[in-house]
Amino acid sequence: MNRQTYDLIIIGGGPAGLTAGLYAARSKLKTLLLEKLPLPGGQTMNAWMLENYPGFPDGISGRELMKKMETQARNFGLTIETGEVKEIKNSGDMKQVVCEEKDCVTRTIIVATGASPSRLGADGEERLMGRGISFCGTCDGFFFKDKEVILVGGGDTAMEEALFLTRFVKKLSVVHRRDALRATKVLQDRAFANDKISFIWDTVVDGIEGEESVERVILKNVKTGDVLKKETDGIFVFVGTVPNTQCLTGVVDLDKQGFVLTDENMETSASGLFAAGDVRKKILRQISTAVGDGATAAFAAEKYIESFHS
Ligand code: NAP
Repeated sequence: MNRQTYDLIIIGGGPAGLTAGLYAARSKLKTLLLEKLPLPGGQTMNAWMLENYPGFPDGISGRELMKKMETQARNFGLTIETGEVKEIKNSGDMKQVVCEEKDCVTRTIIVATGASPSRLGADGEERLMGRGISFCGTCDGFFFKDKEVILVGGGDTAMEEALFLTRFVKKLSVVHRRDALRATKVLQDRAFANDKISFIWDTVVDGIEGEESVERVILKNVKTGDVLKKETDGIFVFVGTVPNTQCLTGVVDLDKQGFVLTDENMETSASGLFAAGDVRKKILRQISTAVGDGATAAFAAEKYIESFHS
């Protein structure tokens, strides 16, 4: 098997990973960024419009922003390859990154693997996945033109996706487990003002039913216990995220939800192994904070590498 040695391997090509790559490339570290998908960009690729990333007063699509970040990093010489990391072996001063196609040795690693959409865990969800259940409005909204859909969740993602989906759907009912949204106020105001969006409060989805595709949901009011069957053409789920830490089990310390614990320099419990972006335990998961994490992690990795030469 082909085995190369690097100063730094970055795992994940979202905003945190690409920013770390940009900084590392400018510092002339021998760096490889591994992204499991053919196109870098991560979850941001699904965002149809970003309004709170500074520098773009008219907004910018996630796809466009990520293309710019990738181009900028490549312009400074960053190598990006497609590959899914299966295992990290930490043998102290040097570490091993194992993919199916590759096996590399590196002084430092930045894990920027992000997070994936959480599942609801409702009856029928697994069976009807991809047949009327979606985790991405940008990807699937068009298939629900003039249909009536349910959307579950009350965070930023839920409200952004709800607003986007109203371009296609006839009617959208937001099902939320509390009676107040978690989303940023500006998104809440827009959602409340949208005629196509209605709200079903204090309610969870207990089950999803249908023969070939989604036909109805079983809703349960968490305060009264009342159960209601509601016909629907589809269900969009935005109930938070789970960190992508499969390759980190037993390698670094994680919190109870599985997010990576780091210090202020993005260093994990394993020295020379850093984490950046949504995979990390932090108070605010945004592109702007992921970018800061990536820059800090690359700088700290550089200092760590230098410590071997002093
Ligand atoms: P989130 O902020 O964790 O919100 C998840 C929502 O789903 C919450 O309203 C939560 O209810 C609800 N929920 C969780 N588990 C549930 C379950 N089992 N059943 C029903 N409802 C459930 O997740 P997110 O919206 O995906 O956002 C993730 C992070 O990315 C956040 O930090 C967010 O600010 C950020 N983000 C930012 C932007 C932006 O700035 N433009 C856009 C998207 C995401 P409770 O409220 O009751 O907990």
